[in-house]
Amino acid sequence: MNRKLADYRSKRNLEKSGEPRGGSSGRKPAFVIQKHDASNLHYDFRLELGGVLKSWAVPKGLSTAAGEKRLAVRTEDHPLDYQNFEGRIPERQYGGGTVMIWDCGTFSPLDKGCDSEKDLLERLEDGSFKIWLRGEKLQGGYAMARMENADSEAQWLIFKLDDRAADGRRNPVSSEPDSVRSGRSLGEIAEDESAGESRG
Ligand code: MN
Repeated sequence: MNRKLADYRSKRNLEKSGEPRGGSSGRKPAFVIQKHDASNLHYDFRLELGGVLKSWAVPKGLSTAAGEKRLAVRTEDHPLDYQNFEGRIPERQYGGGTVMIWDCGTFSPLDKGCDSEKDLLERLEDGSFKIWLRGEKLQGGYAMARMENADSEAQWLIFKLDDRAADGRRNPVSSEPDSVRSGRSLGEIAEDESAGESRG
């Protein structure tokens, strides 16, 4: 919380008034899911938190069916502007392969009492949190939990909560395979990139 706003807060009961409590721009943080055709195809799920993109690699992608758990392997924090990256990482580089912006939008914390970014970061470190996604392909509540007794601290599970956005008949990973940013398929992104390289 921003201490410069002490005067503002001391004059108000923000719980009752419903006015902004401050501490952020009011802009909701971004999420992105990047489909990444590396040595194994996977979906990089990234949340804007603490000035970086907190990241997990989800081999099967996220499900829209309530309770259907998907493995999510925590990976290193990425810079915020990585959310706009769609293109090709050269073969011999780390993560070499095509990257597509499969879905993006904003998210909010969903746990009771979890109102600020700091609260959510604490829950993440504790290994369990819920968020509400507002994407083009994925909406609604999702829970993430670090696996207990796993081989590695990096192993988490992500699953859809049972809410109005849950729908077991949808399977956007297969029915909506293309980029929300450009409409391109993985193959088209790769082709465009190699065309660019031969021109340049
Ligand atoms: Mn990746």
